[in-house]
Amino acid sequence: MKPESLMMSYGYKPALSEGAIKCPIFQTSTFVFNTAEEGKAFFEVAYGIREKGENEELGLIYSRLNNPDLEILENRLCLWDEAEDCAVFESGMSAISTALMEFLSPGDLLLYSRPVYGGTDHFINHFLKKMNIDSVGFRADEDFDTIIARIEATGKADRLRMIHIETPANPTNALIDIQMCVAIKNRYTTSETSVVLSVDNTYMGPLWQHPLKHGADLVLYSATKYIGGHSDVIAGACLGSKELMARIKGLRTFLGNMAGPWTGWLLMRSLETLKVRMEEQARNAVEVANFLRSHPKVSRVYYLGFIPEQGNENEKRIYAEQYTSSGAMIAFDVVGGEKEAFNFLNNLKLIKLAVSLGSTESLAEHPATMTHADVPQDVKEAMKISASLVRLSVGVEHYEDIISDISQALNNAS
Ligand SMILES: *Cc1c(COP(=O)(O)O)cnc(C)c1O
Repeated sequence: MKPESLMMSYGYKPALSEGAIKCPIFQTSTFVFNTAEEGKAFFEVAYGIREKGENEELGLIYSRLNNPDLEILENRLCLWDEAEDCAVFESGMSAISTALMEFLSPGDLLLYSRPVYGGTDHFINHFLKKMNIDSVGFRADEDFDTIIARIEATGKADRLRMIHIETPANPTNALIDIQMCVAIKNRYTTSETSVVLSVDNTYMGPLWQHPLKHGADLVLYSATKYIGGHSDVIAGACLGSKELMARIKGLRTFLGNMAGPWTGWLLMRSLETLKVRMEEQARNAVEVANFLRSHPKVSRVYYLGFIPEQGNENEKRIYAEQYTSSGAMIAFDVVGGEKEAFNFLNNLKLIKLAVSLGSTESLAEHPATMTHADVPQDVKEAMKISASLVRLSVGVEHYEDIISDISQALNNAS
C-alpha cells in the first residue's frame, strides 16, 4: 500500500489500547516489566549486550529509550523515505546536531553546502569548531572539481568524514546535486574509513525528494515544518539504515533529546493529512508563482517550477532527477530595496509575517534581516539574498485569496 493509506493505522494495534481507534498519548516515564527476566532481556537488547532474536521486539523500558508514541511515529515516517529506521527528536536542530556529533570526531573535516539553515551553520562554525572539527563549505553553483580542490586545500582531505547538504537551498531554491555529493563521498571512502552523506530534506520532504534513493546515508528533518504542518509543534527526525540509526539512537539516548509522547502524538495526527496538505500547497504555489512573475512590482521570482523553462542544463537535469514537485516555497525580489520589501510585508493581511515554513497558513519573511541576518554581506550577495528579497511559504488557503492579499500588499509597497 501507499504511505498515505497507512498513515492512519500502521504499526498500531487497537487491542493493546482498550480498542481505541487512535494511538493514545502514552504520557508515562517508565514501563512495568512482567518479570525480572523480561526486564533483563529488554536491557540486553537496548544496551547491545546481545543481538536481538529473530522475532524478538525491543520491549518498552523507559521513555528516554522508547515510547509507543515515538516508535509508531518512527515506523510511519520510514514509509515515506523507504528508510530502514528513524529516530525522532524534540527539534530539527537536535536531529541535525546529534547526527553531526555522532559521525565527526576532533580533528575531522566536514564538507557542507552553503547556505544551510542558520542554526546548522552556527553549530558547524561555532560548536564544531570549538570541538576542533574543521569545515569547508561550497555553493550550489560550484562543480565537482572546484569542491575537490577546496577539500584538498584544507590539507585534511584524509580526515573528511561527513558531507552535509541542504537542497534546494533556503531561501533561493538553488539546487545541489546529491549524486555529485555521492561521488565526493566515494572518492574519500577507503576500506578503513567511511564518509557519511546527510541531507536536510526539510524543504521538500518527505513527499517530493527522497535522498536515500540517490545514495545519501541519512535524511534529516525539521518536523516542525511540513511534517508537523500546523505551526504548533517543534520536532525533528533522522532516517537511514539500521546500522547508522543504531548509532544515532545510541547518542540520542545519552543526550536525552528524543521527542516526548505529546510531540509524537501531534506528529502522528499531522501525518494523516500530510499528503493532502502538501499537494494543495504545491498547487497553490503554481498559481502564486505565475502571478508574481507577471507582476510589474516584482523583479525576480525564485521557484523550482520555473527551472524546466528558465534553468541551465545542470539545473534542469538535477530538477528532473531529484524532485517530483516544484514545492510550495517561493522567494522573490520586490522592485526597490528593504523599504519596499518591508512595506509589502507590513501590508499583508491574510499571509502572516513570520519565519518557519510548510504550515497550513501562508507565511512571509525577509531573509536578509531575519532568517539569514547573520550571513556576512559578501556571502549574502553571492547567494542573491538581497535587501528586496521576500520568502513565501504557501499554505492551504484558497489561492485566489493568497494572490489578492499579495496583490494589495504589492500595490501598497512603494
Ligand atoms: C527549521 C529548520 C531547521 C531547524 O529545525 P527546528 O525544528 O526549528 O529545530 C533545520 N533545517 C531547516 C531546513 C529548517 O527549515
